Amino acid sequence: MSINQYIKPITAERKDGELYIGGISAVELAKKYGTPLYVIDEATLRGIAREYKEAFKDYKNVRMMYASKALCTSAVTKILDEEGFGFDTISAGEIYTVYKAGVKMEKVLFNGNNKTPREIELALRLGVGRYSVDNFYEAELLNKIAEEKGVKADILIRITPGIECHTHDYIQTGQIDSKFGFDLTQTDEIITLIKNEYKNLVIRGIHAHIGSQIFELQSYTDEVEILIKEIMRINEVHSLSLDEINIGGGLGVKYTDGDNPPDVHALADAVAKTMKKYTSNLPTIDLEPGRSIISTSGITLYTAGSSKVVPNGRKYVAVDGGMADNPRPSMYQAKYFAEIADNTDGRETEKITLAGRYCESGDILIEEIELPQIKADDTICVYNTGAYNYSMASNYNRVEKPSMVLVNNSQSDIIVSRESLEDLISKDSIPSRLNK
Ligand SMILES: *Cc1c(COP(=O)(O)O)cnc(C)c1O
Repeated sequence: MSINQYIKPITAERKDGELYIGGISAVELAKKYGTPLYVIDEATLRGIAREYKEAFKDYKNVRMMYASKALCTSAVTKILDEEGFGFDTISAGEIYTVYKAGVKMEKVLFNGNNKTPREIELALRLGVGRYSVDNFYEAELLNKIAEEKGVKADILIRITPGIECHTHDYIQTGQIDSKFGFDLTQTDEIITLIKNEYKNLVIRGIHAHIGSQIFELQSYTDEVEILIKEIMRINEVHSLSLDEINIGGGLGVKYTDGDNPPDVHALADAVAKTMKKYTSNLPTIDLEPGRSIISTSGITLYTAGSSKVVPNGRKYVAVDGGMADNPRPSMYQAKYFAEIADNTDGRETEKITLAGRYCESGDILIEEIELPQIKADDTICVYNTGAYNYSMASNYNRVEKPSMVLVNNSQSDIIVSRESLEDLISKDSIPSRLNK
């Protein structure tokens, strides 16, 4: 089993009935740092990073690039840099974060379907290693800015392989009707254009990303087959020798018992097998896992507060966070698993709905879960919140964003500080004409 197949961080255990993560009591963490609190378990994070590397180790030319958008903070970047990962970035903010964390910029790929001139300028200035060129407009823009700066940009052509994988509509990206990439009928045109006119672009390979929270290896096999055939076809038709294939990210994780994501070794085998079917001259392969790297290492701790029972019998228990720190349930109907961190020996269990504190009826973290009876002030742990929680968090209802702590070997360190009330108003200003 690989770590993306666990609901909880690998260090999760009960001691005297109390939940411990990274050797520390979750209740103690909640007391010390306040709630809501994001917690990242370093052993789980490093563990899955190493599993990925191990799984692909027979594959000589492989580059692991963490998809920063899943959770981009300086400490997480530092850890994955130490583990030998590069970074897939989507914005100036992510590029700046990895740059300031000391990452070698040639290990960075700049992605996205509408990179702005300012972001491209920054990426070129900092020496980002690869650009995934998504559309005609962007190829022209990147070439123009590179030319102005007198530099060349190494690029991958982002392709829409036309694969439908079984995931939520919003997180499916490889189908033909998608805002991302060139479809296979457009690749010859863009390559001809670049070869003839965009002298500051150097094509290195092709790139695709077929979606997120993928459970079927067949989706990857189909993708790799399309990409390997396409790169061989391009090389032949355009007399090129492109040798980089970026297959994107997307491997699923286990949020609840109903989820059965594949093992990373099975993914590696499927990818290698498919490649070898078509060529013995294996191209460099890039992987961009985001969710499967960071999700399992993260939990969110909340404090239970009010509760109510409605006439149909449903019981709501509210916690001190919700859709602003974890928008996924309200956005994608995402499911999560939770437990009470405190010792609950002797309590009866009951079915409840775990609600958030925000002013939206849709602010429900878990629709229905059977737990020991929750008391006010209990610490509630929601599992698998490392990915797309903090990175999608907002200040809805003008609530401060939580802190994040890193735990390892019974030690805890703040890696993102909780916002203060002062932080919330620090960017506001009142025009002087209102002060009359
Ligand atoms: C979002 C994204 C990823 C990461 O997806 P996960 O499902 O988090 O692994 C990788 N590559 C690209 C191009 C993406 O847009």
